[in-house]
This record gives sequence, C-alpha cells and structure tokens, in this order.
Amino acid sequence: MITGKNYIGNTLKANGNITHKTINPKLNIENPIPFYEATDEEIDEAVQLAWDAFKNYRKVSGQKRAEFLNTIADEILALDQELIDTYTTESGLPEGRAKGERGRTVSQLRAFADLVTKEDWRENSFDAANPDREPFPKDDLRRTSIPLGPVVVFGASNFPLAFSTAGGDTASALASGCPVIVKVHEMHSGTAELVASAIIKAAEKTGMPNGVFSNIMGRGKIVGAALVQHPKVKAVGFTGSISGGRALFDIAAKREEPIPVFAEMGSINPVIITPNAIENRAEEIASTYAGSITLGTGQFCTNPGLILTINSAKTQKFIIDLAQKTVAIDAQCMLHPNIKNGFVENSKSVSSQNGAEVVDEITDTVEANYAATQITTVSGKDFLKNPKLHKEVFGPFSLVVTAKDEAELIDIINGLEGQLTGTILAEKEDYANLHDIVDALESRVGRIIFNGVPTGVEVCPSMQHGGPYPASTDSRFTAVGTNAIKRWVRPVSYQSFPNELLPEALKTK
Ligand code: NAP
Repeated sequence: MITGKNYIGNTLKANGNITHKTINPKLNIENPIPFYEATDEEIDEAVQLAWDAFKNYRKVSGQKRAEFLNTIADEILALDQELIDTYTTESGLPEGRAKGERGRTVSQLRAFADLVTKEDWRENSFDAANPDREPFPKDDLRRTSIPLGPVVVFGASNFPLAFSTAGGDTASALASGCPVIVKVHEMHSGTAELVASAIIKAAEKTGMPNGVFSNIMGRGKIVGAALVQHPKVKAVGFTGSISGGRALFDIAAKREEPIPVFAEMGSINPVIITPNAIENRAEEIASTYAGSITLGTGQFCTNPGLILTINSAKTQKFIIDLAQKTVAIDAQCMLHPNIKNGFVENSKSVSSQNGAEVVDEITDTVEANYAATQITTVSGKDFLKNPKLHKEVFGPFSLVVTAKDEAELIDIINGLEGQLTGTILAEKEDYANLHDIVDALESRVGRIIFNGVPTGVEVCPSMQHGGPYPASTDSRFTAVGTNAIKRWVRPVSYQSFPNELLPEALKTK
C-alpha cells in the first residue's frame, strides 16, 4: 500500500506539510495520493542513521550483502501487479516496458549479488616484503578497496525502476558496502515508495542495520541540495538533465569536504553513416533508425539524436525515407508535462536555427503529453558554426547533418561535446578508411557501436555507460554494468601490517 510517506531508515514518516502529487501523463490528470516532502529534521535523521549503519554495514560479508540484494530482487517481484500498475500510471509507459524494466532491475541486483560473493571486484593486490633489497629493504604492502560511506542516489525520470530507487546506482552502492539514501524523482513517488518498501523488507529479513536505506521525497533544489550538502554524505549518483547534474556537482564541490558526484547527463549520440552503407542498405537503416529514434518516446539517454552523413542525391533520398518512416510511427506519451514542454521548446529551438529544415514531423494535433515526432536536417557547414544545433532534444527527434566530405564530417565529430555513445554504420569496403573516424569518436564518446543502434544498454562487465563531460561528470567510470561498483569505493594500502589486523581478504591464510 502506498502511504505517501518517507522511509527514514525502516520507519515511515511524514512530519512536514508540503505535499506533491504524481501525474498520469496519458490522462493528463493528477493521481490521488499526496506525497510528503521530507523536513530538515527527517533529512538529517536519515543521514545520521545511514552514518551509524555504515559502521556495521561496511563490515558485513560479501555473502550477506549478496543475500540482501537477492532478497530485494525477490521482494520487488513480490510487489507484482501493484508495482506494474503504479509504474504505468505514473510514467505513461506501457505495461510491457514496465515488466521489461522490472526484469532488468532484478537482474542488475542479482548481478551485483554475484559480483560481491567473490573478492575480485576489489582488485586486491599483494607485494611481498623484501628485507634484503638494496639500498633499502622493501616493506610488505597490500591494497584493497573500501566503501566511501553514505551515498545519495537521485532517481531518474526516464527509468522509474532500473535507474531509480533500487536501480543500478543503488544496487552498486549497496553491493559495495555503502548505505543509500534515495532522493525520489517526484513524478514517480508511488513507484519509488513501493520499491523502497521492498528494500526495507529485505533489509529486515536479512538483518541489515536500520539506516542502510532511506527513501526521501521533495524538491531537488531544497531536499536534494540539503542531502548533497550534508557532511555525512560521501558520494552522489545522478541521472537527468545537464543543468540538474551540474548544479549538484557544483554544490558538492563547494562543500568544506568536496565529494564525488557521478552524474550521467545529456547526450545526442552521433551516428555516422558512410556513403557505401547508404548505397547498399538505405531502406533497412531508415526502418531500424525510425524504431530507435522513437523507442520509449525517444526518452533514452542513448537516443540517436544526431545522424552524420555525407551529402549526395542518395543521402537526400535516405533522409526523406528516414523522416517518413519515423513520423509514420504513432505519437506516444512522454513521461511528464515538464519533459513534454522541454521537447516542444528544444525541438523548436533546433529547427528554427539558420539553415535547419524540418524534413517531416507529426502535424496532427497530439494529446496533451504526447510528442510530435520530428526529423530535421542541416548542412555540415551550418552545424559546425552553431552550437545551438548541438543541444539535446530529449524525445523522438533526430537532426540529420549532411557534411560536404569526410574531412568536414571528422571536424564535426571533433567539435562535439562529450557523448555517451557514437555509432558507425559502414560496409566492409569502408574498413580501411575508418581509422580517422574511430579515432575522432574515441576522444568524444564512452561506447562505440558498429552497425547497430545505441539504444539498448547491456548490463555486463564490458559495458561503458559514461563519457567525457557533459555526458557524465567523470568519464573514467560507468553507470551501467558491474564496474559501476567502482564509483563507491576508494583504495587503501596497508604497509607492514600484522596479519590479524588486516581486512579478511588481505590476510595470509
Ligand atoms: P532533472 O530535471 O535533471 O531532474 C532529476 C532530479 O534532479 C530530480 O529529482 C530533480 O528534482 C533534481 N534536480 C534537478 N535540478 C536540480 C537542481 N538545480 N538542484 C538540485 N536538484 C535538482 O531531470 P528530469 O526531470 O528527469 O528531466 C528533465 C530533462 O532532463 C529532460 O527533459 C531531459 O532533457 C533531461 N534528461 C536527460 C536524461 C539523460 O539520460 N540524458 C535522462 C533524464 C532526463 P526536481 O524534480 O525537484 O527538480
């Protein structure tokens, strides 16, 4: 049952008087339950509990943490249809997507559970002493990774499950030994409370300390900022807008003790299509990309928002075909009214720039929070000189750029801001000439896809989901896949230590 209250550790509390309601974007009405913004005292209590819990939780064995994570997964599944119905009502996303995302959330939790049953993820290292070394003897040195402390996770609007309450950030932080305080995305407060109840049940069933998890609601600029400023918070995970991520990064940097903010933000994910690929399979590419651009109403951080081609008669024909196929897909609902408003504003802004031309768009009136898909085109020359054309349009939109030649195309890639992904669509005969494009992409993106689509992010050790700023605030780390755990730990070396004082995994057995 959804109560509208915050979980301050294991206890539901609502001492404040500021409330908000979620929105059913399909019906464009408010959902009935009021949700309570956490008070300053509740925020402080949640962080204090997390701090106290950390003293024990950091020492809980990998096996026990794995049991906790697997029990969270079981409890999420036990929420059954209530969770699916709440998710669809609050997000406008279809039931199939809700179930798929629940599956991903559960498998992420289980993947981190598997990871921490062994010690390899800590990258422990051992350097034996050498008392006879000249001119100085060498001490015994052993190194491991230890958790940072309480982590604040901001729920993402576009993944109400997989990147929210028990999503990748929470799963990886709990796996590492850090307590988590979630700052709920207000538009998914009901979904968040249900998932939070599953985490609390799992914590109680597996004997985790009270405070290992809290679920806090309220405005980002008030509650979110207070959490990031709290001296006992030691790291932050975020997925959302560049302005939001950057604001939190700046708050964290200005603290007396600055802390890391792992923010995954905007990306337009360039897709490079060679003339040979257009020559050989223009229609197939147009169909595949119409699907990718509109998948999830274009509300994926890996949405292909920028398509780079070399101009020709065939390229022009391809652009028209791509636009028609994309626009032929029915208009779909967006996550919430602010995202819809942002889509309208940003697509208008890009298509009204000098030289930009709308190739095709949905012109019928769409329902309140539905998106009118649009494909716009511009020349390489105009794109290069106008940074307003480089802005993310979050939704079913793509800008197709026609460069005059390969040199201009590479200039365009080099001039882009950091991106999560870059994609190359090419033929075998192109391989020998692709090195410059690969080199340019490597310096701009975190993941390069060959003959595929950027949407769809596998959860596995080789995944890199993060890129140079502003794709993320620290391109050395990933937000997806088991390596995401490395964001929440720091290395410690032990020099000449007695065996009995070493952490278990570093002891000589
Ligand atoms: P958002 O506005 O960045 O909000 C995400 C979270 O951060 C919310 O909890 C929000 O709280 C908080 N927040 C935002 N600005 C803040 C600030 N200045 N200080 C403290 N906290 C702050 O993202 P959104 O609501 O998900 O979507 C808005 C836009 O973000 C989209 O239209 C899209 O352009 C972009 N977006 C990008 C991605 C991506 O992966 N690239 C994903 C999602 C969204 P409040 O709600 O109270 O502000």
